[in-house]
Amino acid sequence: MRPSSRSDDVPPVELVAPDITPYRGDGPIPWVTTLEAAAPGPHVAITAVVHGNELAGAIALDWLFRRGVRPVRGRLSLAFANVAAYDRFDPRDPTASRWVEEDLNRLWDRATLAAPRRSVELERARALQPWVDRVDFLLDLHSMQSASPALTLAGLHAKGVRLAEATGTPSLIVTDAGHLSGRRLRDYGAFGRADGARAAILVECGQHWAHASAAMAIESAVRFLRATGAIAPDWAADAVDTAHPSPPARIEVTEAVTVRGRRFAFTADYRGLEVVPKRGTAIATDDDDPVLTPYDDCVLVMPSRRLWPGHTAVRLGRFVR
Ligand SMILES: [Zn+2]
Repeated sequence: MRPSSRSDDVPPVELVAPDITPYRGDGPIPWVTTLEAAAPGPHVAITAVVHGNELAGAIALDWLFRRGVRPVRGRLSLAFANVAAYDRFDPRDPTASRWVEEDLNRLWDRATLAAPRRSVELERARALQPWVDRVDFLLDLHSMQSASPALTLAGLHAKGVRLAEATGTPSLIVTDAGHLSGRRLRDYGAFGRADGARAAILVECGQHWAHASAAMAIESAVRFLRATGAIAPDWAADAVDTAHPSPPARIEVTEAVTVRGRRFAFTADYRGLEVVPKRGTAIATDDDDPVLTPYDDCVLVMPSRRLWPGHTAVRLGRFVR
């Protein structure tokens, strides 16, 4: 049973899931294409459909392939992560294909990956792991349940924030530690450590199936490839205006609210980025316990509709001035 799911209307599906069959490739890992330049440089990667129902990333990778993207130095990998789930996407039931058996974005620690437990997503994570271990800079493209402004999740360390600022779009940067329910790809291995140069960002491009999310995914991808030096600064200049990014703004997430009981409900229809002025305001109830904001001007980041025990209901943060 999946208790306490919010049952409000599913947003319209404006996007069409692209046919990605040309991108299965014949390399060692299906659905991972790695292009190599003559000049040395870092291994830069973009991942899409870590969640199978998030179409914007697939559209951005399809766009990059169609534009004939090539790295000018180092390596560039474009990867479709959870194709088993993506293949099940059905616009008549667009939320059902987020994963097949479990969330691929909660498996990224070495103990989980090395354990004997099996699932469709664990097998895929294990197949991707040796490739991820060689990536220096990663952009992981996602989207959100609510029509909330796009944002970049940069992790906890300065190198993630620097990569987010250098990418520039989305200009709203959120620093956070992830989820109690498991480690994200963005936080895996060297990406999750303060030291070293290897860094990753996760971009939430907007609502899963909104036109604007696909445009955001493409712009963010091109900016990321420019920022990492994988492509020339003027590549795709005709298609993507990246001349004048908005000034960055930053939210520091201080805690994630994890659902404990079987009856979790928000007190209002929060969509994300609401600022609750007063400390001690009840934003939800978890069984019979109120969930209170811990300080004034508390920002609600990505309230979830999957309000199941052990899952993140919402993250709480503050704007950093
Ligand atoms: Zn996602």
